[in-house]
Amino acid sequence: MKYHVSTIGCQMNEADSRRLASALERLGYTPAERAEEADVVVLNTCVVRQSAEDKAVGRLGAFKSLKDRRPEMVLGLMGCLVGVRDAAPLRKRFPWVDVFMPPSEPEPLLAFLAERGLVDEARVLETEAAARRYHLPDGGLLLPAREQGALVSAYIPIVLGCSTGCTYCIIPYRRGPERSRPPEDIVAEAQALAAQGVREITLLGQIVDRYGLDLADLQTCTLADLLHRLHEIDGLQRIRFLTSHPAWMTDDLLDAVADLPKVCEHFEVPVQAGDDEVLAAMQRGYTADDYRRLVARIRERIPNASIATDVIVGFPGETPEQFQRTYDLLAELRLDKAHIARYSPRPQTLAARKYPDDVGPEEKERRRKALDALQAEIVGEINCRLLGQAVEVLVEGRDERKARWYGRTRTDKLVFFEDAVPSSSPCRAGEGSDWRGKLARVRVTWAGPWSLIGEIVE
Ligand code: SF4
Repeated sequence: MKYHVSTIGCQMNEADSRRLASALERLGYTPAERAEEADVVVLNTCVVRQSAEDKAVGRLGAFKSLKDRRPEMVLGLMGCLVGVRDAAPLRKRFPWVDVFMPPSEPEPLLAFLAERGLVDEARVLETEAAARRYHLPDGGLLLPAREQGALVSAYIPIVLGCSTGCTYCIIPYRRGPERSRPPEDIVAEAQALAAQGVREITLLGQIVDRYGLDLADLQTCTLADLLHRLHEIDGLQRIRFLTSHPAWMTDDLLDAVADLPKVCEHFEVPVQAGDDEVLAAMQRGYTADDYRRLVARIRERIPNASIATDVIVGFPGETPEQFQRTYDLLAELRLDKAHIARYSPRPQTLAARKYPDDVGPEEKERRRKALDALQAEIVGEINCRLLGQAVEVLVEGRDERKARWYGRTRTDKLVFFEDAVPSSSPCRAGEGSDWRGKLARVRVTWAGPWSLIGEIVE
């Protein structure tokens, strides 16, 4: 029996799809490269913008013709298109789908397969229990078979959902309120991943800094506490976390990043806009000056830190002057990365209900391009400062087409390097050198806005 999982969307969806694959393999399924070859097909979806939702609906249409040809195939729909709401309207809209799964909840599919007698019920209950806690009681297989020993960097969801009401955001409506996972479950999952060859973990949450605030008294554990516990795990070389929120980053967290060698000095802190009126209409809970102060705090405490952000252009009512303040803020702060998105009205959200989407698509695109060009210039200059310097790279894999390895610096910059290694190095070229999962020192010989190229130093 074969399965195929198709994933659209964020790191959280990737982590959920990996967990679903692991559970199906535990039930005896094996992976199929293509949906056409699979007995169970799952589409994991994102609706953060209309374009993502259109992509999901389009792909679901393609799976319909497959289902028409092979009615015995089990088709599951998962993620934010389903959300934590009643699936009845979706059942009517997509009658060819067999199972609807809320984000991070594979259980309905496992139960459906058991009901159909396609899998052993007892194993389903055991697998469900394991899946719920993201790890297996016996610490057994956590990663899908083909990723064991091959996956260098893995995502670990630590906070599910979000209880913050940014007016443009659909996530709270689709992923539900914020709930932190018990710290012992996260530590056990990280240990199991390290035992299977993972060298870097990235802790995930919509507001990862709020980890633990909803935990019962007996379990109090902040993100900083959690980082200290994970830091003790043998085999792990790097720890990252995302996504932060300007209103929730504590000095304890900055101290943990500064003091714990495995925790990478890279921050993902969305600003979304540089104008206070726009930020207020977004209900982000901070001002542009608050954001400036946060960036200054990070750079004072961790001088070589890298900071990435998210920006939405064309929010309802955003005037050219207000957009110019966003532009000026990015020009002033010179951040390492900025994901720029055009405002997309989302159903159920306050902004979609209250504010007309009055910034035209051409103007949104003009603003997006302007910020992208600015950011490319800034990051190009920042990366050029690394020329001739040796950087530490955790090697994630090899691009066979170009015969070169790739990985990331601690500050999340993508680096490529070729095989030529000095004779003294234990990973001598041509002798099956395998840098995967290893830390390499690479001297930067070329720098662009989006990646670096270098040569091995040792
Ligand atoms: S913090 Fe705001 S933007 Fe982020 S997931 Fe929560 S509601 Fe959405």
